[in-house]
Amino acid sequence: MSNHDPHQPIVLGDEPEGIRRDLQQHSKTNFMRCLQCRACSSGCPVYFAMDLGPNRIIRLLQLGQFEQAMQNSTIWICVGCDTCSSNCPMAIDIPAVMDVLRQYALDMNASIPTPDIIGLHNEILASIERYGRTHKLEIMLRYKVKNKPWFEDMDIGIKMLSKRKLHLFPSKVKTTEDIREIFRTAKPISWPSEKRHEHI
Ligand code: SF4
Ligand code: SF4
Repeated sequence: MSNHDPHQPIVLGDEPEGIRRDLQQHSKTNFMRCLQCRACSSGCPVYFAMDLGPNRIIRLLQLGQFEQAMQNSTIWICVGCDTCSSNCPMAIDIPAVMDVLRQYALDMNASIPTPDIIGLHNEILASIERYGRTHKLEIMLRYKVKNKPWFEDMDIGIKMLSKRKLHLFPSKVKTTEDIREIFRTAKPISWPSEKRHEHI
């Protein structure tokens, strides 16, 4: 169930330009063109679980409310499926924006509404590094071993196995070495240092 409160007021930020420019450069998208048409949120498959829809995250960024955007569950719930950017009439790459916000949030130790979700993100990345794609069953088992919600969602897992939505064994892409090289050479994105003490 969403905690989304559409009546929550948005307050204008006071010194947003440098951070906004940095965010746009790293995500390679100009979210200032957003029209607030909400096509992104209406098509998002996990909107029901988010605090705010993707359109409201973009709105916060337009208004310079980076702290609110970073402390929101939405950026961690987003699965990067690209449905929103395919629907966007302004071709805004919303998953890329979410990705940069997650890295800013980690760099700034921002408070995260559901902290265990970082463990899930780490398992997904580790799976991609190992196989070049995700092996969902292994991700779920590794996550459960570390976080110990042993029987939570067990019924869903059994249903997915019976419908062959989960594979028992992983499959690998042929270019796993290239994928690992990307992981070795990727540099994390940091919060713009000159603004470090002004926010959060
Ligand atoms: S679909 Fe694009 S233009 Fe419309 S609200 Fe979402 S980000 Fe903004
Ligand atoms: S990329 Fe994220 S915000 Fe966009 S539709 Fe998928 S889950 Fe929703």
